[in-house]
Amino acid sequence: MHKYYVMTLFPDMIDSIAGTSIMKRAIDASIIDIEAVNIRDYTVNKHNRVDDYTYGGGAGMLMQAQPVYDCHKAILERHQGRKIRTVYMTPQAPIFDQKMARDLADEEEIIFLCGHYEGIDERVLEEIVTDYISIGDYVLTGGELPAMVCIDAIARMVPGVLGNEISGETESFDDGLLEYPQYSRPVEWMGKTVPDVLMSGHHANIEKWRKEQSLERTRQRRPDLYEKYIERMRDRS
Ligand code: SAM
Repeated sequence: MHKYYVMTLFPDMIDSIAGTSIMKRAIDASIIDIEAVNIRDYTVNKHNRVDDYTYGGGAGMLMQAQPVYDCHKAILERHQGRKIRTVYMTPQAPIFDQKMARDLADEEEIIFLCGHYEGIDERVLEEIVTDYISIGDYVLTGGELPAMVCIDAIARMVPGVLGNEISGETESFDDGLLEYPQYSRPVEWMGKTVPDVLMSGHHANIEKWRKEQSLERTRQRRPDLYEKYIERMRDRS
């Protein structure tokens, strides 16, 4: 079983996503487990506070080192103190992609650390974090949605999480291209018909059509990815 811990001040946000759809099914089948661990439970502050003002001034509060460190330590103790990859979700990091998801899908356990307010005291990050990941060049109010974005992408690569293993292998980004357009019933809808080739039953032609569509879609919508793909093909030949 692959276990994902999410260190957070807002466990309900994690539980609500983990309790829905494919994630829920995979958890019920004991293929993965997602556990929200409340950082506030580890504060030693008598008022239960986990944040304080930043040294040097500036607006906003910062999550303090002590509760974050003790929360992380308590998780490691459940694994006999073994080192576990610990990912801090932060806009100050490389942007998450399918390759990172594939790499992290091999890990049996991962700890995700979610910041809030102005973020987290740097000293505890230096102590416990092994990976820094952003989900994009914008700033959100907390790391909970980013953590769940990563867990969703990682977990769906764990064998058994998707009912149909094949569907996880033929999607956008797997060969560096976006996926081709897809159609379901009926054959005609709003005057638009499904391309003939898809109903021909001729597998080689269908594959060829899909590859062309994939290339064209990538060229139009993500010229950056298209250029990289063309370069890779050139290097191979
Ligand atoms: N002061 C921080 C900065 O300028 O980098 C931003 C803090 S943000 C308001 C609060 C928390 O949200 C961060 O600690 C981080 O965990 C999370 N967060 C915000 N944007 C994110 C992003 N693009 N990717 C991943 N995590 C993000």
